[in-house]
Parts: sequence; C-alpha cells; structure tokens
Amino acid sequence: TQRLDGRVAVITGAGSGIGLATARRFAAEGAKVVCVDLDAETGAKAANEVDGLFIQADVTDEAAVRDLFQRVVDEYGRLDIAFNNAGISPPDDDSILTTGLEAWKRVQEVNLTSVYLCCKYAIPHMQRQGKGSIINTASFVAVMGAATSQISYSASKGGVLAMSRELGVQFAREGIRVNALCPGPVNTPLLQELFAKDPERAARRLVHIPLGRFAEPEEIAAAVAFLASDDSSFMTANTFLVDGGISGA
Ligand code: NAD
Repeated sequence: TQRLDGRVAVITGAGSGIGLATARRFAAEGAKVVCVDLDAETGAKAANEVDGLFIQADVTDEAAVRDLFQRVVDEYGRLDIAFNNAGISPPDDDSILTTGLEAWKRVQEVNLTSVYLCCKYAIPHMQRQGKGSIINTASFVAVMGAATSQISYSASKGGVLAMSRELGVQFAREGIRVNALCPGPVNTPLLQELFAKDPERAARRLVHIPLGRFAEPEEIAAAVAFLASDDSSFMTANTFLVDGGISGA
C-alpha cells in the first residue's frame, strides 16, 4: 500500500506552484486531495487533474475557511492532512521605509491570518480522530535575513513559523502534528513574477544558494508528502528547511 492511501488532504493554494506540485504528489501517493484556491480556473483544473474536489475559497475569509473544512468532513468523513500553503509575494520594494501600512496588512492577512484560520478550523476535526498532520508553509526568510529586503513578507513567515511551533507543542498529546515547511527559493509563478520585476534580484539570490539553483516545486512537494505521512511520525513543532543549503551557508 502507498504511504497516503485513503488519507484526506486539504491543500490551499493548490492551483499553482508548490500547492499544485503537492496535489499531484499526494494523489500519486494515494491520498484524496481537496484543492482550495481563490482562482476558480486554476484550482478546478488542479482538482480535475488529481481526481479530487475543488473548493473555491479566500483563505482570509473566516466563514469560508470554516465551511470548507466542514464540507470536506461532510463529503469524506474525515480530515487527515492540512497543507496550509496559499500565500502572496512581497509588495514591490518591501522595505520598512517604503512599504505602506495597507500593503503590510494585506501580506499579514494572506500569509499569516490565513494559516491561523485554517489551523483553527482543521484542528477540531483532527481532535475527533485523535490524529492529523498539519503543514504550514513558511519560508527560509523566517529563519534568516534575506539578501533582498522584504520586511512584510519575512514578518508574516516568521509568524507562521512561531505559530506552527506553538500548535505543534500544544496538540502533540492529541496526536496532531504541526510542522512549518521552510522552502528556499522555488521556481514557481510567485518567484518568476518577483524576478521579472527585478532581474538582478535573481542573480543576487542565486549566489547565496550552495546547490547553485532554485528548487523545482516537485522537490518541495516531496518534503511535504514526507511531513504529511507517518514517515515523519516523530516530528512535530519542527522547522523543516528545504532550501538548497541557503540557511546553512
Ligand atoms: P504561487 O503564486 O505559484 O501559488 C500560490 C497560490 O495561492 C495561487 O494559486 C493563488 O491563487 C493562491 N492564493 C493566493 N491568495 C489566496 C487566497 N487569499 N485564498 C486562496 N488562495 C489564494 O506561489 P508558490 O510559489 O507556489 O507559493 C506557495 C507558498 O510557498 C506561499 O505561501 C509562498 O509564500 C511560499 N514560498 C514560496 C517560495 C518561492 O520561492 N516560490 C519560497 C518560500 C515560500
């Protein structure tokens, strides 16, 4: 049998990049995949591809998040895995001297508040089962200063990391594991968009990565599948870096 046979997994931001690669990986390992995205077209396409369920939702909307987890449990009878991954890139020129309050708040809302909401509404279902695995997408910038200034983004990801650690400790005795995934730079639309605006940024970033390249989304998905599965059964409240060595250099 496969590692994720019969497991029910929710992935937010499943329409693109890391979320999409993980939807494919989870399905290939036997999971039933629920693809959540704000974008109806890409989200539905992803769900169709992995023979899963698509739920269109804005992960910053509390009622929408509550309803989506309820719908998953109504439909499949359980919730085993929540990969809280939807996020947005930093605003242009994300320096503390230039980032406006509204841009700052928006990044906290999409990258951090969304994770708070998804955990809040996933955990009660997992408590009833006495088991569950939550993976929250932070970033390597949660543990180190980046060569490029991205103040609102780094702060949001630091929040995700700290929250994951707290939840991992709090719910460990109930069989719910919570880990923070910290990818290095990954070749996805989010990164491509950033680098298109500032090509020098890509070159500056690359010199700091010991492996000498950006990750492919499939390489991140492999790590997520590990964290989702029982292969990582002794891991919780963990900072899981998949970063080409960037934080170790
Ligand atoms: P992406 O832009 O390719 O995909 C993100 C997906 O999230 C999109 O499909 C988008 O529609 C969806 N989304 C955005 N806001 C949403 C909302 N409010 N509600 C529901 N869905 C929403 O990005 P990616 O590169 O795959 O990034 C995924 C996660 O990984 C993000 O949290 C990002 O911060 C993080 N991350 C990315 C990198 C990288 O280099 N690409 C590195 C570290 C961490």
